[in-house]
Amino acid sequence: MSDWSLTYDHFDPEMERLRETLCVLGNGYFATRGAAAEVGANDTHYPATYLAGCYNRLQSPVGDRLIENEDFVNVPNWLSLTFRIEDGPWFDLSDVEILSFRQRLDLRLGMLFRDIRFRDAAGRVSGLHNERFVHMGQPHLAGLKTRITAENWSGSLTLRSALDGRVINDGVVRYRSLNQQHLMPLETGCVGDCIWLKVQTVQSHIVVAQAARTLVLVDGRVVTPQRALSEEPGWVCQDLAVELAESSVAEVEKVVVVYSSRDKAISECGLASRTAIARAGGFDELVVSQEEAWDYLWDQCDLKISDGPIEKLEPTLATLRLHIFHLLQTASPNSRDLDVGIPPRGLHGEAYRGHIFWDEIFIFPFLNLRMPEITRGLLRYRYRRLDEARAAARTAGFKGAMYPWQSGSDGREESQQVHLNPMSGNWIPDNSSLQRHVNAAIAYNAWHFYQVTGDLDFLSFYGAEMILELARFWASTATYNGDLDRYEILGVMGPDEYHDGYPDRMQPGLDNNAYSNVMAVWVLCRAMEVLEILPADHRHRLSEKLRLTTEETAQWNAISRKMRLVFNADGILSQFQGWDDLEELDWEALRERHGDIRRLDRVLESEGDTPNRYKASKQADVLMLFYLFSADELRTLFERLGYPFEDDTIPRTIAYYLERTTDGSSLSQVVHAWVQARSDRSASWRLFRTALQTDVGDHAGGTTQEGVHLGAMAATVDIIQRCYTGIETRGDVLYLNPQLPDELKRLQLRVRFRGHSLVLDVRQTRMTITAERCSADAIKVGVRGRVHALAAGEVMDFEQ
Ligand code: BGC
Repeated sequence: MSDWSLTYDHFDPEMERLRETLCVLGNGYFATRGAAAEVGANDTHYPATYLAGCYNRLQSPVGDRLIENEDFVNVPNWLSLTFRIEDGPWFDLSDVEILSFRQRLDLRLGMLFRDIRFRDAAGRVSGLHNERFVHMGQPHLAGLKTRITAENWSGSLTLRSALDGRVINDGVVRYRSLNQQHLMPLETGCVGDCIWLKVQTVQSHIVVAQAARTLVLVDGRVVTPQRALSEEPGWVCQDLAVELAESSVAEVEKVVVVYSSRDKAISECGLASRTAIARAGGFDELVVSQEEAWDYLWDQCDLKISDGPIEKLEPTLATLRLHIFHLLQTASPNSRDLDVGIPPRGLHGEAYRGHIFWDEIFIFPFLNLRMPEITRGLLRYRYRRLDEARAAARTAGFKGAMYPWQSGSDGREESQQVHLNPMSGNWIPDNSSLQRHVNAAIAYNAWHFYQVTGDLDFLSFYGAEMILELARFWASTATYNGDLDRYEILGVMGPDEYHDGYPDRMQPGLDNNAYSNVMAVWVLCRAMEVLEILPADHRHRLSEKLRLTTEETAQWNAISRKMRLVFNADGILSQFQGWDDLEELDWEALRERHGDIRRLDRVLESEGDTPNRYKASKQADVLMLFYLFSADELRTLFERLGYPFEDDTIPRTIAYYLERTTDGSSLSQVVHAWVQARSDRSASWRLFRTALQTDVGDHAGGTTQEGVHLGAMAATVDIIQRCYTGIETRGDVLYLNPQLPDELKRLQLRVRFRGHSLVLDVRQTRMTITAERCSADAIKVGVRGRVHALAAGEVMDFEQ
């Protein structure tokens, strides 16, 4: 990584699938893996394209059961473009001698380039140049250019451009034994220089249409090649034949359009794609508008860190930009209206089947403060599924709305019923849907969207209803323990997925998970606050619609003051009731036996044991509380509950759980980097730098090839954006409390707050906030215990 580029200077088949993920190009509407255009899926390559929100459900036999999964569908491969010289074989990188190789992902342009020189078996030396984009400004468009130079030969060159709908979902080895045939062919066709293809998902009946137009040039002049059409069900191709003299250059530009029956403002997606391809500009023209679209996004979303030793900070900055890049390729202004959430592994691969989890809690803060129109769209995805969540709550015997742990097309629970342990080959019951805390994450996101934007209309029409229904859900999960005069939440899972029950209890689930209980209290408090904030007419309308009574809100108040938290004998907050009775894990012995024990669940299960017996977590669980709340907020919550919150509560709790967490999830290190930012700045910086390597360094146990880890990507950026600047959005105030690690001398970024665009320039000893000109009312900015008014056009300077 350097500057604005991710560059590879040699071809490495072993690393290819990883690189394909890191080189994904996308625009929030669709994304295509960075696989070479000439390859099909095999052990080395996995070309795939995913449309945001395109899911399909299939059943598969596992043992004597029939299980059903809803998958994120790999749609036809639009890239497909290969060539052959004379009647030689179709180009295959593994069959030729590679003389030079360079592949470069350009983050500023949103383009992928590849340059190769090779010698084939007949001794012919050729140059091959590819460039491609998935258009950020015109979300249905993509383009690929291929240039071939006949360095020491002359003869015929046949270029084969195809649309390939014969693809299946084959990106995750663990899912291979399951049914993965999601598409059936509908139609293919051709007119002149355009081919098109239509396929349909077999269960959800989403029609996907693609059309491709090819233009061929020889030595810079447009030529009319011989075009030969071939069609098979789900596949259409044109062979374009030209004659090349020695040193001549052939170039083909493939411009592609993608539509689906999920799109708005079309009558039929096949027609829409054919109309759009006829109107689409040429490749070079589209590259210009692509750059403009990315310029705008970078203007809104970039950050600069500088003044440190440049060789140290450059890769850090470049990697942060790579993270922002992949975030924006997954959720962009193009996805606002699509009725989608953010899959934890992006539109980049098939891991977790593209489902929507709680990971958005790590992603929202960055986007809220940059492009809240995107987060508004994500909240609308949840709002549309509120009825489904209400039905789920009812079925489970609760009130209000219970969103699923994993959500796909219609918002029902999509968590798998069993999962495979690749270490033992066993299928294990999957209880992860007991992670009810996703229902706190959604409320947290809705509330912070309001805090950042001040959008009372959104709160009135959408946000409040969700928050109130979620509060109602949490209240209904709480049972009263008369002996203790406390409320309890029983039978859930916290974020730590290695604990899904008690070793001696048949029924899965844990009691009084601290994270869930505190979050429930927080949701109840916010719901009561929402009722205060809402304009009277909306408050009345909603109370009536939800049949909300003063008795019910009085009950919320009572629960929010008497929720139970459990503490270890040493006074540390227990992850859940019974945690303190578990055994300490013999970490050293296990590491000696297995090496990498991050996936402790798999390691122990393969030994016939279970993490449920030990004080060992997959990821930050209790520590999530310090990630989401400032010390002041937590103190208020603890005081409300009547529990002690001492000065050393935070450092002691951090030290305790850091020692007992395997970081088996990419969401763990970022939290650990965050929570130590104030107490141990250099440890925080070290962890932050390690977390930066999750995907570029393939540090997540080789799983990046199945998709990037967007939660970790967003959180690393957010550590710079909010943690080191101390940004908090609370009580209508934007608080800033910078504390840069020594390695970071200066930090510049832009945030949006309540309609204002603010430019922050933070140094070790001073900070400047510039409010750009706009017509929004003055905002409140809190620095070092004082709240100031900041009006558009004003600049504020603070000495630290
Ligand atoms: C983590 C979850 C996360 C999921 C998707 C799991 O490994 O434990 O917290 O939501 O991955 O990223």
